[in-house]
Amino acid sequence: MYFISTRGNEKVTAAQAIVQGLAKDGGLFVPERFPQVTKEELDAMIPMSYAERACFVLSKYLEEYDKAGLLAACEKAYSKFEGKDAAPLVRLDEGVYMLELFHGPTCAFKDMALTLLPYLLRAGSDMLGVKEQILILVATSGDTGKAALEGFRDAEGIKIMVFYPDDGVSKMQKLQMCTQEGGNVNVVAVKGNFDDCQTAVKKIFASEECKAQLKEKNTILSSANSINFGRLAPQIAYYFSAYLDLLSSDQIQPGEEVNFTVPTGNFGNILAAYYAKRMGLPVGKLVCASNRNNVLTDFIRSGKYKTEGRAFHKTMSPSMDILISSNLERLVFELSGRNAALTAERMRDLSQKGCYEISEEERQAMQKEFFAGYATEDQTVECIYDLFTEIGYPMDTHTGVAMSVARDYFEKEKDDKRNMVIVSTASPYKFPQDVLYALTGNDVKDSFKGVKRINALTAMAIPASLAGLRDKPVRFRKSVPVADAFKEVLKFLE
Ligand SMILES: *Cc1c(COP(=O)(O)O)cnc(C)c1O
Repeated sequence: MYFISTRGNEKVTAAQAIVQGLAKDGGLFVPERFPQVTKEELDAMIPMSYAERACFVLSKYLEEYDKAGLLAACEKAYSKFEGKDAAPLVRLDEGVYMLELFHGPTCAFKDMALTLLPYLLRAGSDMLGVKEQILILVATSGDTGKAALEGFRDAEGIKIMVFYPDDGVSKMQKLQMCTQEGGNVNVVAVKGNFDDCQTAVKKIFASEECKAQLKEKNTILSSANSINFGRLAPQIAYYFSAYLDLLSSDQIQPGEEVNFTVPTGNFGNILAAYYAKRMGLPVGKLVCASNRNNVLTDFIRSGKYKTEGRAFHKTMSPSMDILISSNLERLVFELSGRNAALTAERMRDLSQKGCYEISEEERQAMQKEFFAGYATEDQTVECIYDLFTEIGYPMDTHTGVAMSVARDYFEKEKDDKRNMVIVSTASPYKFPQDVLYALTGNDVKDSFKGVKRINALTAMAIPASLAGLRDKPVRFRKSVPVADAFKEVLKFLE
């Protein structure tokens, strides 16, 4: 299976797509076709463990990867999760389920892919005969950074550097990153918001001059952001796994469609659901849930993507505070009938004019697959409080956004009787102050006090990785202007 760029003619192997991260023309790599999973194969996956299911889905895309090696890597990655199942499905109510993706080492769904990506990258670069050291550059809105640091720490021949917006992550996220252990890691704050941060990193990737300077230091760049297909592929697996869990517990019949609601920022998680559907999984509606930064809601409703003149809001769901949603390019490419020239033109318009518009036909096709909504801060708080009061289930703020939008969907589409799976992307303990506020109306200044009170209130176990943070020394304190990002990279490599 080859991978092609959304913007041009570049065609590469899976290993190249993963090692390179981004196509040379600035486009994203997509599979040249969607591999199909048959009914018989779905049946065969029912008794499999999560790691085996993940390996099965991944090997459909990563044909040249050794299957035994891939399985061993999946088993190792998902053994780092708390509990027996890496992605448990919890029944909330008649026809409503929560897919919990936060049981990994850093308590957010990014672990589903980032515990595995180091292997995909290492094996890929070995296949390609890469001799240089690999530098992973990450722009993070909070969760990717920590999950990538943890995944890549002390990986052989790899260094990792994370940039995060100084004021755009939660205290807990910041503490998680700045206390990171490992001899090959670096963390730097950037003065600006996540989009500034992401743009700075993208610029380095796109600059021949930067790459030449890195080459002198025997270093090549790669990405752990969700633009990398190696991030996307492991995420497809949990949609299959959720479906299989519904099947095996007789909640659905074979072939029956299931809806998913996904809290969305960079459109990576929900795109993986779309890919699962294109592979033949019976998926119904995909509900795209945004916070106040509702650029995707407007796009899915109107067909017009517009960042120009739009204010950036800081919310209590910081991992979704994004206006330039990178992975949307992959959907736009599909909607256009895989027209790379048109996709390139639209992305050029976005960066130069701050907007682009898809055709009426494309918009209708998109609305067949996607429903979009957003939750305000008040609605998010209200929804977290309500669900806890109703059934005693605590949610994090991102999942709260998803639940709120799912409820809008139930209200609007009363005739849609399909089961709904809501994707839960973080542990409530990762955003303790906001979650405590939602549950009780109380504000606490200290994150750990929040953790303690949520624990007393909910009796939900505190993840060991968060409980241990308090006593860890802070290793990284630097904050730099956006323009100095590359200078910091060079310093790190000295
Ligand atoms: C990253 C993240 C999201 C958004 O995921 P995308 O793939 O960027 O759409 C949602 N919730 C949490 C907790 C996250 O860390």
